[in-house]
Amino acid sequence: MTDVLISGGGIAGPALAWWLRRYGFRPTVVERAPAPRGGGYKVDIRGAALEVVDRMGLREHIRRHDTDMRLARFVDAAGNQLATMDARIFGGREGDDAEIMRGDLARVLTEATTDDVEYVFDDSVARLTPTASGVEVVFERSEPRMFDLVIGADGLRSTVRRLAFGSAASQLRSLGHHIAIFPVPGHFGLDRTELMHVTPGRTVGVYRTAGAPDARALFLFRSPAGGHGDRDVAAQKALLAEAFAGQGWRVPELLEAMRHTPDFYLDSISQVRMPRWSTGPIALVGDAAYGPSPASGQGTSLGLVGAYVLATALAHAGGDPAVGFADYERRMRPFVEANQRLADRNLRGMVLGSAAQIRFQLLMLRLMPHLPGRERMIRRVAEPIGRAANAITLPDPAPAPRGA
Ligand SMILES: Cc1cc2nc3c(=O)[nH]c(=O)nc-3n(C[C@H](O)[C@H](O)[C@H](O)COP(=O)(O)OP(=O)(O)OC[C@H]3O[C@@H](n4cnc5c(N)ncnc54)[C@H](O)[C@@H]3O)c2cc1C
Repeated sequence: MTDVLISGGGIAGPALAWWLRRYGFRPTVVERAPAPRGGGYKVDIRGAALEVVDRMGLREHIRRHDTDMRLARFVDAAGNQLATMDARIFGGREGDDAEIMRGDLARVLTEATTDDVEYVFDDSVARLTPTASGVEVVFERSEPRMFDLVIGADGLRSTVRRLAFGSAASQLRSLGHHIAIFPVPGHFGLDRTELMHVTPGRTVGVYRTAGAPDARALFLFRSPAGGHGDRDVAAQKALLAEAFAGQGWRVPELLEAMRHTPDFYLDSISQVRMPRWSTGPIALVGDAAYGPSPASGQGTSLGLVGAYVLATALAHAGGDPAVGFADYERRMRPFVEANQRLADRNLRGMVLGSAAQIRFQLLMLRLMPHLPGRERMIRRVAEPIGRAANAITLPDPAPAPRGA
């Protein structure tokens, strides 16, 4: 049996473990966090990724956790409503596209695999040494072990990528903005609604999804200076407070909540672009290989599709990494590139450069319900996302091994 170490128990990691198990491989997942990470932010599952969760029999589980968001409301510095938008149009979702909290999705995927996949929490790979028969893996805590293959599914700042491809490969392509997100205690008066306050170069949002115990604050801001994702949390919080100092609306209240939250996320909005996603018996999947950035809205879908395509390619190749990884890359690369291209365009609509642009956007939103070409305009926004989300022909699943 082929032993595969998967570094990262987020989205792509457990999805890959699910498929590898089904194909008769023996995956082990090592996750740095002490337990599956809950909460987070809302993510979309679209296009080919919906087909993948269907094939896993998980669509209904995902539906059950749908955010069920209804409305986005734009407000001025005094909290007055300036415009509203249907949440599905605001999120660029069409048809069966689903929206779910990242933590809920991670839990669904982990629960679908815990019975027959070994999970090692609170640990990380520390050294990878390819040998003639596989990869010798040294961990931070556990005893060293041999694996036939190692897959890095450990996110934007992948350790496997750094260890196997070198630090130059870990250079991220910054899109010139930062994103921060954290929970806000209480409901903030919201029920399946998102409030947005937009000023030049800065956007603040607060939303609460169906049945959530608290609301989430989301901050986006321009920051040409590059990444701060690897700074310590106190420095990250100071950076956000400085970027939004003097802002109106309820920004001071949100920044006060930020000071006390233990669950704070801030990072540069960046992409991973690599000429190759594998080297010998080691490969990357999901954000670690081709993170398209939160601005693309497609990171989760790329992770789910990538996991399926990688496992299926390996199964068809009988576990041979040279053949399997090449097939995975050939099928995935055009799909990845189409989805990465969405990010710059989306970001231009999420963070606006000038007061004039903001006035124009709000005017368009107010006029939208009354314009004759309304449906066409809405489609123009959603169509490129839908096209990119479907820009792959999924391979048929490989046959399950006999006796499985
Ligand atoms: C604020 C925000 C909003 C987003 N919005 C959307 C959206 O609307 N739509 C969308 O599709 N995507 C969105 N994304 C992106 C999406 O979350 C990611 O693209 C997706 O989660 C990628 O899955 P992954 O499994 O590759 O990586 P992750 O989900 O990042 O999982 C990586 C896992 O690896 C673990 N790990 C890291 N280092 C190590 C290590 N050394 N050893 C062991 N484990 C390790 C981490 O703890 C984590 O559990 C958003 C992201 C952010 C940050």
